[in-house]
Amino acid sequence: MNKRITALPGDGIGPEIVAEAIKVLDRICKKYDHKFEYTYVDIGGCSIDKYGVPITDEGMEKCKNADSVLLGAVGGPKWDSCPASIRPEKALLAVRKELGLFANLRPTKLFPQLAGASPLKQEIVGNGIDLLIVRELTGGVYFGERKTEEVNGELVATDIMPYSESEIERIGRVGFETAMKRNRRLASVDKANVLDTSRLWRKVMHRLSEEYPEVEYSDILVDNTAMQLIKNPTQFDVLVTENMFGDILSDEASMLTGSIGMMPSASLSSGTLGMYEPIHGSAPDIAGKNLANPLGTILSAAMMLRYSFDMAKEADEIEAAVNKALDEGYRTGDIMGEGKKQVSCSEMGDIVANLIV
Ligand code: NAD
Repeated sequence: MNKRITALPGDGIGPEIVAEAIKVLDRICKKYDHKFEYTYVDIGGCSIDKYGVPITDEGMEKCKNADSVLLGAVGGPKWDSCPASIRPEKALLAVRKELGLFANLRPTKLFPQLAGASPLKQEIVGNGIDLLIVRELTGGVYFGERKTEEVNGELVATDIMPYSESEIERIGRVGFETAMKRNRRLASVDKANVLDTSRLWRKVMHRLSEEYPEVEYSDILVDNTAMQLIKNPTQFDVLVTENMFGDILSDEASMLTGSIGMMPSASLSSGTLGMYEPIHGSAPDIAGKNLANPLGTILSAAMMLRYSFDMAKEADEIEAAVNKALDEGYRTGDIMGEGKKQVSCSEMGDIVANLIV
């Protein structure tokens, strides 16, 4: 199969980790006789330095015309004082908007080999945590009307949280479809005891659930979800929720693994085009030192194969190689433990690639 991938390495450790993910993708190509063609586009600070903007129009076109986009990370202290209109993160929001990326998938996986890195007790973590949060990304309170006005001599601020049935149905379907590809359990997170948007959310989700009888469906309130993620995280398979709840819960969940360098993510559109990136930033403190953990980016590339290219077998193979590298005791500095073998970013990429035979 031939696929066009636009690579956005970005700033800091971005180019180092994207290079390792591409090393692994190349190995998959060789084994399965696929052809992946890469187009590199500057994004973030490096683009500001060269062109005065965090992404150029031509760069954006190259993202839109690709089969998929692989991102490293953007930003760093050098660009902190840039005016708000051209800050590195502006490019990420622009790409999400232009590509219509309305669904954010964040798996939270605590590999059993790294159980010691979780802040939770061993008896809660069990044999590892493996859940996935599907977050609505382009609606809700972050995109609703907002204003601050003076009322009776004091300032009053208002943020509106709109959701339409079609927006809910679109993300709800991603939740069900994702659950179908995993363990067929879906919990829909809302605040239906208080919010009208949540009551509509629940109504649409119930309607959808009739189309997916194979999926074990449940509703859960957001405050209870926040507690359950700490108390009993292994009960969850897929969680689907609106933008702000998803923002907060996915950060909470990511901490359960204790290692930000391991965490991948996907942002999906209504077609097959998606953007795949690790959840961490550009880590300026370790940039250029070949110290970064490339596994979050490598696992993001696996998600790209699974969700954009429908290559489940190839994605499984990358995930198995990561698992095996950890089993064999290889660790980058951020996940280093006693008696393990410390490797650099590029060595970890080599190890994972070489495990794909
Ligand atoms: P960060 O995620 O870059 O780093 C936080 C800590 O985690 C650092 O100590 C870093 O060394 C470590 N770390 C992160 N990724 C790692 C990896 N792969 N391997 C090993 N260690 C890793 O967060 P920050 O320091 O708050 O932000 C740095 C810059 O990144 C800022 O400019 C911020 O705006 C930007 N940022 C970008 C994105 C993105 O591009 N999606 C996301 C978050 C932050």
